[in-house]
Amino acid sequence: WNAQGSDARHEKIFVSVRLRPLNEKEIQSNDFADWESINSTTILFKNGLGERSTNPNAYNFDRVFGHNDSTRKVYEEAAKEIALSVLNGINCLLFFDLSDLASVFAYGQTSSGKTFTMNGITHYAVADIYDYIEQQKEREFVLKFSAIEIYNELVRDLLSTDTNPLRLLDDPERGTVVEKLTEETLQDKSHLLELIAVCEAQRQTGETSLNEASSRSHQILRLTIESSARRFGGGNSSILAANVNFVDLAGSERTSQTLATGARLKEGSHINRSLLTLGKVIRTLSKGKNGHIPYRDSKLTRILQNSLGGNARTAIICTMSPAHSHLEQSRNTLLFASCAK
Ligand code: ADP
Ligand code: MG
Repeated sequence: WNAQGSDARHEKIFVSVRLRPLNEKEIQSNDFADWESINSTTILFKNGLGERSTNPNAYNFDRVFGHNDSTRKVYEEAAKEIALSVLNGINCLLFFDLSDLASVFAYGQTSSGKTFTMNGITHYAVADIYDYIEQQKEREFVLKFSAIEIYNELVRDLLSTDTNPLRLLDDPERGTVVEKLTEETLQDKSHLLELIAVCEAQRQTGETSLNEASSRSHQILRLTIESSARRFGGGNSSILAANVNFVDLAGSERTSQTLATGARLKEGSHINRSLLTLGKVIRTLSKGKNGHIPYRDSKLTRILQNSLGGNARTAIICTMSPAHSHLEQSRNTLLFASCAK
């Protein structure tokens, strides 16, 4: 994650796929795996026909992780460079236009491993960021943390016990901001890990049905890194700020049908506007055209507008169950992943 020239920031979205193992329930019910990762970039639909080398059932992504691959490996190969890219902006002042915004997303149906994957990645990234800043003797750092949940297009502060929805405001300097959002200034790494644990607890107790809430809500954890040169004998030096977002998306099961079939939204059906709009935004961005990008159509994309497109760097990890019983959802997840490439 050193600055390797300035091309890196123009890279498209980094898209990876992670297969989880079959779980106990799937094994008990004689379910079986449809999918297999056959190398570090290819996932194969095993029940198709044809030779592997020219298989129409093989799909390529920037990275593919199999059921035996650790979250550490997923982090190292599919998230680390992007999550830590913001540190280059702080360190290499010559590359003043290097990205100072990065996001890592987990996308997939409920129970496919989004939270499992994103929690691990967040912890590894936090450790690396603290390791890095502790080595920088010439600069001073202030880290801040905020966390929100978006549920039914309502934004909630995960660091506050107040469950009233927060409003979004348009700030001429900073873009869309969440009004009255708690932003904690961090004392150290363990302080941050405590706050992350608070968010996890908040996300689970807010709703009566745990499963329903966590499958329908998006969680955004945002780390803000401010840095300035140490000046002996006083005086101000300019402050550089960078943001990293860790986004655990709502389960894709309700949206993907609509994306895949183009079906009209049914009245009263629990279609997730934020997830649907994120899909549209990502597809528009990945085409690299300068057309209209519908950021303003949902809360999630409004909040993340500055972190999607432009100089921002984005990694999406699409999590999948290998089980045959989830075939339709898995196909939809790969369709989303292909559109994001
Ligand atoms: P989601 O957030 O997508 O609904 P979870 O992350 O909660 O799914 O995962 C569902 C279950 O599967 C959890 O019990 C989790 O520990 C387990 N799991 C998910 N991914 C893996 C994996 N790669 N290896 C082992 N267990 C996993
Ligand atoms: Mg989850």
